[in-house]
Amino acid sequence: MSSGTDLLSQLNETQAQAADHFTGPALVIAGAGSGKTRTLVYRIAHLIGHYGVDPGEILAVTFTNKAAAEMRERASHLVPGAGGLWMSTFHSAGVRILRAYGEYIGLKRGFVIYDDDDQLDLLKEIMGSIPGIGPDTTPRTIRGILDRAKSHLMTPDDLERVPEVYISGIPRESAAEAYRRYESRKKAQNAIDFGDLITETVRLFKEVPAVLDKVQNKARFIHVDEYQDTNKAQYELTRLLASRDRNLLVVGDPDQSIYKFRGADIQNILDFQKDYPDAKVYMLEHNYRSSARVLTAANKLIENNAERLEKTLKPVKEDGHPVHFHRATDGRSEGDFVAEWLTRLHGEGRSWNDMAILYRTNAQSRVLEESLRRVQIPAKIVGGVGFYDRREIRDILAYARLSINPADDVALRRIVGRPKRGIGDTALAKLMDWARMNGTSLLTACANAAEQNILERGANKPVEFAQLMQGLSDAADAYGPSAFLRTVMDASGYLDMLRQEGQEGQIRLENLDELINAAEEWSQDNDGTIADFLDDAALLSSVDDMRTKTENKDVPEEAVTLMTMHNAKGLEFPVVFIVGTEEGLLPSRGALTEGPSGIEEERRLFYVGITRAMERLFLTAAENRMQYGKTNAAEDSRFLEELEGHFDTIDPYGQVIDYRAKSWKQYRPTVPARPDTSASVAVKNTSPLTAGMAYRGGEKVTHPKFGAGQVLAVAGTGDKQEVTVHFPSVGAKKLLVKFANLSPA
Ligand code: ATP
Ligand code: MG
Repeated sequence: MSSGTDLLSQLNETQAQAADHFTGPALVIAGAGSGKTRTLVYRIAHLIGHYGVDPGEILAVTFTNKAAAEMRERASHLVPGAGGLWMSTFHSAGVRILRAYGEYIGLKRGFVIYDDDDQLDLLKEIMGSIPGIGPDTTPRTIRGILDRAKSHLMTPDDLERVPEVYISGIPRESAAEAYRRYESRKKAQNAIDFGDLITETVRLFKEVPAVLDKVQNKARFIHVDEYQDTNKAQYELTRLLASRDRNLLVVGDPDQSIYKFRGADIQNILDFQKDYPDAKVYMLEHNYRSSARVLTAANKLIENNAERLEKTLKPVKEDGHPVHFHRATDGRSEGDFVAEWLTRLHGEGRSWNDMAILYRTNAQSRVLEESLRRVQIPAKIVGGVGFYDRREIRDILAYARLSINPADDVALRRIVGRPKRGIGDTALAKLMDWARMNGTSLLTACANAAEQNILERGANKPVEFAQLMQGLSDAADAYGPSAFLRTVMDASGYLDMLRQEGQEGQIRLENLDELINAAEEWSQDNDGTIADFLDDAALLSSVDDMRTKTENKDVPEEAVTLMTMHNAKGLEFPVVFIVGTEEGLLPSRGALTEGPSGIEEERRLFYVGITRAMERLFLTAAENRMQYGKTNAAEDSRFLEELEGHFDTIDPYGQVIDYRAKSWKQYRPTVPARPDTSASVAVKNTSPLTAGMAYRGGEKVTHPKFGAGQVLAVAGTGDKQEVTVHFPSVGAKKLLVKFANLSPA
């Protein structure tokens, strides 16, 4: 095991100084890939190994649960005893604190956590009756207002007093009223939402100093990664936690602040020295991640932001490959281009795991997935509709929630008709009225449906439902998570319902099997009840879902990663493709309407994307893009110009062409024709199979030994032209055309 000093020798000088920082506030501010996260982990290991700090007194806050788990693992490799660290996201930390001490501020035991969809369900229910909120207002709009208010620690009263008369098109009084009603309904259902995990913890710390003191004992040394993306509420939480011992070390990069739309405030990191005048500041100036050419492109880009703190970031690595740009005719050929390169690089020995495709919005993933599927490249999609967002999973978890929290009306309304149990909309409306009048839950109303004559007809149905839930509630206390979930699926009649649904039901049944597996695996790592499992499931962020999905048997071990640039924050891949570098996508349409600050945020996002690449970076755009069901001519992103030519534009075969040519198809080489003209086959548009065997990709061919196959990728020209062909018999093969003896199929 390394001794304390050995550890620091694995860092550069400034990193080592930061990692050796013992007490008091400190700020590590540096560009992408400069080793901020690495320094943070080493600092933790050094605190334990060298300064003898008890791991039970160390807290590290990261952006995702996955990052937290990785950090714990990395620290444990560096020093023994690091397993006992408290590493989590702000939200997970909030859950842990509120589960332990929430009762001090009136939270009832067994509260449930409402996710985004639950919030929408609840808002749908209340917003119709609020004056000033018209039928064309979506629950999402209101949710956006509420979430932002919470991230700024604003109460409904605060919202009512903002200077703007309208907020997202809604009168501020109406927005405040929606907020008020939403809060009271949520409270009645013994639920809290994501925002509350932070704001309620802040309230707890402010109202009950004794609790703060207790929690501070477990957080004498506090670390926050990605500090540039904290919002006001998280800032306040951090400030309170650090207020006693003042051992707070934060790391971040203002150029990577990309969550303004969720209330993140770049000012938090810029003001750190104001808040802590005695803070030590460490600036890291060397990038260890990216090849020099990738880094130059990134630096060029970000220099265009006016509002920025200038930093130095010098490459440690060699030049490496040029950055490549390709403009495809449309989204589909963009996808095919990416697929070809993936295949080619895989053929050269790269693992699929080493490659990632990044995009601006989840909606872009579908076309890419299809391109990859056509040539059988394994892919894992991070974000989008994740495992825990699937209907059947949410249904079963709603049963589970209602079992442990009978007040959860949102859950009840979700599942009372799945499967059908003869409780119609009219009956439900009556039950709801009765519950509201009597100040009880919907489940209590069900239990009393007959006795209290709430329903004239069919009152036994709700009573039976209440009895089912009573039984499940007992089971929740008696069984472990996986056995309990199995009971829910069975006793509720849910499995029977799916069994009658044919093909689609079959897929859903398999997903439910997977849920039981997930609960089983969770129990192997955790010692907790179904309530704890539900907390963890609710807190899985879209990035954490990656783990869930890779464990899912449908996803192969080795796969290319597809995700948004937002989700890629903090990660790195040897090969990165950034697709859709077009006006309206990157920068996004929404940002274009926001003016300069919107553009600057998008530029930071692109900067995050570029700096994920370690060795190779490909940028692509399409000339025509289908969006919202319509195909429109697309324009290159303004950000491409800003790279000042620090990339090579290539045609589908990898040949470098002139960037200014509007399209590679119109491009004609001005240099004297090469001895072999197959490079310009695409321009001449001759049939590929008659023009001296010049392939374009996609052709069906036959090989004397491997049989029928399809050309996936083409590289080189003339005698050196190589093709990658997929043969169902043997898989992908790379062949020199000249010798391959291929014939058209
Ligand atoms: P980001 O801003 O993207 O979060 P970061 O500043 O947190 O980046 P890290 O992820 O910590 O950077 O480091 C980037 C890469 O460089 C990692 O692979 C890391 O192991 C490597 N690295 C950092 N510092 C050193 C070093 N001193 N020696 C060797 N490798 C290093
Ligand atoms: Mg990092």
